[in-house]
Amino acid sequence: MSERVDNEKAAQILEEIADMLEIQGESVFKVNAYRRAAENIRSLGRDLSSMVQDGSIFAVEGIGKAIGEKITELVTKGRLEYYEKLSQEVPRSLLEILEIPDMGPKRVKAVWEKLKVTTIEELEEAAKSGRLAELPGFGPKSVARILAGIEERKRALETHRIPLVSAWILAEMVKEGLLGLPGLRIEVGGSFRRKKETVGDLDFLVSSHDPEAAVERFCSLPMVQKVLLRGSKKASVLFKGSIQGDLRVIERSRWGTALQYFTGSKEHNVQMRELALKKGFSLSEYSFKAVDGGDEILCAEEEEVYAFLGLPWILPELREGRRAVDEALKGNLPNVVNEEDLKGDPHVHTLWSDGFSSIEEMVLSAKEKGLRWIAITDHSAALAVAGGLDTARLRSQMVEIDDVNRKQTSVRVLKGVEAEILADGTVDVPGDLVDELDIVIGSLHLSMRQSREEITRRYLKAIRHPRVHIIAHPTGRLLGQRQGMDADWEVIFEEASRTGTILEINANPYRLDLPDYLAALANEKGCLFSIGSDAHRTSQMELLHFGVSVARRAWINKDRIVNTWELDKLLDWAKSKHDRL
Ligand SMILES: [Zn+2]
Ligand SMILES: [Zn+2]
Repeated sequence: MSERVDNEKAAQILEEIADMLEIQGESVFKVNAYRRAAENIRSLGRDLSSMVQDGSIFAVEGIGKAIGEKITELVTKGRLEYYEKLSQEVPRSLLEILEIPDMGPKRVKAVWEKLKVTTIEELEEAAKSGRLAELPGFGPKSVARILAGIEERKRALETHRIPLVSAWILAEMVKEGLLGLPGLRIEVGGSFRRKKETVGDLDFLVSSHDPEAAVERFCSLPMVQKVLLRGSKKASVLFKGSIQGDLRVIERSRWGTALQYFTGSKEHNVQMRELALKKGFSLSEYSFKAVDGGDEILCAEEEEVYAFLGLPWILPELREGRRAVDEALKGNLPNVVNEEDLKGDPHVHTLWSDGFSSIEEMVLSAKEKGLRWIAITDHSAALAVAGGLDTARLRSQMVEIDDVNRKQTSVRVLKGVEAEILADGTVDVPGDLVDELDIVIGSLHLSMRQSREEITRRYLKAIRHPRVHIIAHPTGRLLGQRQGMDADWEVIFEEASRTGTILEINANPYRLDLPDYLAALANEKGCLFSIGSDAHRTSQMELLHFGVSVARRAWINKDRIVNTWELDKLLDWAKSKHDRL
């Protein structure tokens, strides 16, 4: 079976088609139609396959009949004949050349036709031998930029994206290494600050009275494998583990514009610049400047940048794509959740199944975090590999929970279970004890390779179970290891919304499941969410932090997140599921 085509994959293919058509010298009109379609698919916020199924894909702006049919073919068959035909006419390696600076489609066409260059290696050879400079339009400066771009690319290939949590550990070590610099202020920008689930590089923004010392310290940090570039106020390094780090020393008086600029996203910054221009100013990483001349306006704090444009400060997690500025102008930014808003953790494992800490230890950890309740949700019997609990052991665990609750009152311990959703959708809830369980999580660890239809049916059945309160890590993905399951998420979310079944944002940084874009979709459907640490040892309760980021990136209001509720409200909600079916 061919690989599933999701929104991102479809957008990539449409972009490649646009590139290939442009290299072939097709009309701008046709090329742009594909580019627009790719952009629109990326900003859909809906699962493409369900839009193909109900035909609503044809109603999307910029997607006409011809492209709509191609998308339908691509999504239903997993392949597209038109794309395959184009790929035979235009060598794939030419598309890679497009990524080199100064090499737009027209120039790629020129080197292909006139120099028979089809790969980056051949382009490098042509540049070094002087053949490239003989082509009209390729001056010495341009050739130099192309060569530099090829070098840059070789470096980029040595690096890769790492999970946010690994980037976070690295960033903390770097920050520690720079401590003590005079007048130090430090912040990490880019996708790290926007809390994307993976990070490709780390942008350290630093202000200090001694820029040279900052550069010196940065380049000689123990985790630096190689210094790539070293200037008086900036540096680039390759860290061990092969992600790139950039340091920029910023003047204190320009900190606000610089931090705003280097946080991105690209689209958000375009939107900010457009708004500035409407008010008669250009905005750069350095300052605002009146378009008709006059002094620069400096912003020492990021808040000032937003305030100057009549906006409230926008949380970095909301700065993805083109939306934040529009909504901010309308006063529609979400009331996002903070870590301090979380009153409890509904997904905790212990020694009773595959955890490494006791119930009491987990309680202590929760207390330190300022939580007022936790739900002990060890695996059910069906997940034997994880030491799932049969009825007898679950009963003994309940006795221990009662005991812990008697001994201390700072953290209320709830009785729960992470019950397996079996291949036919039955949920492995221990029948005799069901009335004594406060929280039942339904989740799926087995038979994950079923078809989209089967997975969907399985989830729908579990959601309609009167005792299943939370669906945990719905896609089952593991970052960098396992793609999530395919399912009709729209239908699943609608049913979860209707029945008040809570969807988990699993905070384990290798899961982050629901992922932000699906959490956003569920949010639009009116779903409720829980943020679960899924802690298997005491230290992992800290991971709730990463779940909070996902909820923010999905624009979820905090009152939709059950961890922020009073416990009684949550328990009532769980008990009353019957009435919502
Ligand atoms: Zn699980
Ligand atoms: Zn779990």
